[in-house]
Amino acid sequence: MIPFLNIAKINQRHESLLSNAFQEVFQSGWYILGSKVEQFEKEFANYCNVKHCIGVANGLDALILILEAYKEMGNLKNGDEVLVPSNTYIASILAITRAGLTPVLVEPDIHTYLLDPFKLKEKISPKTKALLPVHLYGKVCQMDAINTIAKENGLKVIEDCAQSHGALFHEKKCGSLGDAAGFSFYPGKNLGALGDAGAVTTNDDALAGTIKALRNYGSKIKYENLYCGFNSRLDELQAALLSVKLPFLDADNQYRRNVAQFYHNHIHNPHITLPCKKAEQISNSKDHVWHLFVVRVENREGFQQYLAKNGIQTVIHYPIPPHKQKAYSHFSSLSLPVSEKIHREVISLPISPVIESKDYETVCQVINAYQP
Ligand SMILES: *Cc1c(COP(=O)(O)O)cnc(C)c1O
Repeated sequence: MIPFLNIAKINQRHESLLSNAFQEVFQSGWYILGSKVEQFEKEFANYCNVKHCIGVANGLDALILILEAYKEMGNLKNGDEVLVPSNTYIASILAITRAGLTPVLVEPDIHTYLLDPFKLKEKISPKTKALLPVHLYGKVCQMDAINTIAKENGLKVIEDCAQSHGALFHEKKCGSLGDAAGFSFYPGKNLGALGDAGAVTTNDDALAGTIKALRNYGSKIKYENLYCGFNSRLDELQAALLSVKLPFLDADNQYRRNVAQFYHNHIHNPHITLPCKKAEQISNSKDHVWHLFVVRVENREGFQQYLAKNGIQTVIHYPIPPHKQKAYSHFSSLSLPVSEKIHREVISLPISPVIESKDYETVCQVINAYQP
C-alpha cells in the first residue's frame, strides 16, 4: 500500500536529534513555559520574519486567542462579523464562533480553492470587523487584494496558516502578511510536532502581550489575573522537538514542490482536474508548499475505490462543507454551490517529504489508466 502520509517515517529521519531533545527536557525537570518555548518562539518568529511568536496548545486555540485578544483590546466585540472561506477546515469557523463572533461564509475561487477577493468584498457589511483568509492546501491567498479591502474598510486580517508553513506571497512569508496569524503544528502538518501544538505570529506588540497573558490564565505576573484567560500553552517538550524539525522545513517543502511538479507533468487523464493551471506554472515556485495535492473527479467514490484496489491510499479534505455540518445547522439553508461542488469532488493524493519516487510514479500510472 502506498500510504497517504507516513508520519512515523517523517520523524524517524530525525530520531537521534529528537531523542536528544527529549532527554534534555526530561532531565531539566522544567516542562511548561521555559527556555525551550522561548527559543522556539524566537526561531519561528525569525523564520516568518515577524517580531513576535507566541507558542500555544494547538492551531484552533491560536485563532481563538487572536480573536479573544482583539476583544480584550476593544477591537472586536460579541456579534461582530468575520468573513471566512466556506470551504475551509471546520477549525477556522469554530474559532470564530468560540470567540462569540459571527462567521460569514464566502465562496472560494473554484480554480485555487482560496478566498475570492471579489466575493469577499460583496459580503462586507457594517458589522464586518475582520477577515480570516485560509491558505488552504499550502497556497497563500491573494493577500494584496485582501489587505487592500481590509484597509478600505478598517478590518483586521487574521491569516489561518495551519496548512502553509513557509509559503510565500511576493517573497514574504505567510504569517507576516496580515495583522496576526495562527499556525498549527499538528503531526500531519508541514511542520508537525509529536502531539498537539500551535503558535500565533504578529508584529503587533500589544496583541502579542495580550495573547501571552491569555494563554496563561490571563496572567502576566504569577497569580495576578488581568483577563479571564485560558490554559493554552505550548509544552516545553513539543517546543524542543519543533526546534529540531524547523531547520528541515524548507527542504521538506521543496521536496513537496518536486512531487507536485511531477504530478502536474505526468498525470494526464481528462477525468481528473489537477490543481489550477496557474498552480501548475508555479508548482515549483516557493509560493506553494503543497500541504495537500488535491484533485477533483466527478465519480469520487469510484475513483477512490479504484485507487485503493491498486494500492494507493487517499483522503478527502473535506467530505462535508461546514454549512452542512450538524454543528452549524443554522447554516444549512445557505446556497454555496462552489463549496458544495468542491466538497463533492475533491480527493487528496499521497504527498509528503518522504514519499519515494517509485511510489509517486505509480500514482501517476494508475491514475492515467483510470476510466470511470
Ligand atoms: C489543522 C487546521 C487547524 C487547526 O489546527 P489544530 O492544531 O488541529 O487545532 C485550523 N485551520 C486549518 C485550515 C487547519 O488545517
